[in-house]
Amino acid sequence: MNTITRTMPRPVRDRSLRHPAELLESGLIPPERLAAVEAVAARYAIAVTPEMAELIDPADAADPIARQFVPDPAELETTPAEMADPIGDRIHEATEGLIHRYPDRVLLKFVHVCAVYCRFCFRRETVGPEAPHLTPEALEKALAYIGAHPEIWEVVVSGGDPLVASPRRIAMLVQELARIDHVKIIRLHTRVPMVAPDRVTGPLVDALTAPDVTTWVAVHANHPREFTAGAGAALARLADAGIPLVSQTVLLSGVNDDPETMAGLMRALVENRVKPYYLHHGDLAPGTGHFRTTIGDGQVLMRALRGRVSGLCQPTYVLDIPGGHGKAPIGPNHFSEADGCLTIEDYCGGRHTYRSG
Ligand code: SF4
Repeated sequence: MNTITRTMPRPVRDRSLRHPAELLESGLIPPERLAAVEAVAARYAIAVTPEMAELIDPADAADPIARQFVPDPAELETTPAEMADPIGDRIHEATEGLIHRYPDRVLLKFVHVCAVYCRFCFRRETVGPEAPHLTPEALEKALAYIGAHPEIWEVVVSGGDPLVASPRRIAMLVQELARIDHVKIIRLHTRVPMVAPDRVTGPLVDALTAPDVTTWVAVHANHPREFTAGAGAALARLADAGIPLVSQTVLLSGVNDDPETMAGLMRALVENRVKPYYLHHGDLAPGTGHFRTTIGDGQVLMRALRGRVSGLCQPTYVLDIPGGHGKAPIGPNHFSEADGCLTIEDYCGGRHTYRSG
């Protein structure tokens, strides 16, 4: 029995708002919306951390923080294109909780709970307190699979949010992975530094690293207002420990789909030593149509970003191709070709002919 099998995950204990009645008491929903929010809660998990609740302006019906975390009756409206498993995790499930989609890396769903439940979550059908944690037996099988596949260079630890697990449990996982010779990179995907920054304690930061393996942390952030003093301090604790940080952002209608907000977000990331990595086009998760932009809108936004902010602040705009086909960059293109001649577009929209010979 390896060391991980001896410890079960620790339940999350905090003062987060998890029930419609608590949202009502906190003034985050009006009384006339309670019944509709209860209907959403019967299907999808709710959690709003104190830090995020504090950021919300209840008087602003379009508050971008509320839009991300406070349930909306529109979540019960699904479109024909939406699907329970929009990025095809199940198709590539090698062992329970372990997704082997690309040759050199796997994704391990370490826990199925989160500090917050995002209303647009692409795994909303599988995350939540009702869903089981990965069992010790399943984790042992996943580690055995990784150990038996020397082509696996990187393990992406996700969920749910792996940083809601206890430092002791995270440390055991990191050490188990570090013992596998061919695993060189551990990448943890998390929203915790932004939404529950006090969880990023010294013991948790210590738990993330081990000899003979390099740990990266991918931080999920969607709006500049998420960069509270607490979030800045949590990111600094990670960066000061020498852990490289990259970001993930979901393009969300009514949250960050305008150039000013997106530029502010990307600059805030870089100022906090987080390199913008992916801007995800909204996945076809059930009941998330009110968040999705068109890809054309996303390309216009990316063009605006290219002209507006430093190259350090440019994420790659990607689509997870429905059906489990992986991520693809979706532009925009800055060149076209005709009659053997390239036309390159500059950041102001000016067009220039380019000949290589
Ligand atoms: S933190 Fe990630 S996994 Fe959890 S609800 Fe938000 S998007 Fe989904």
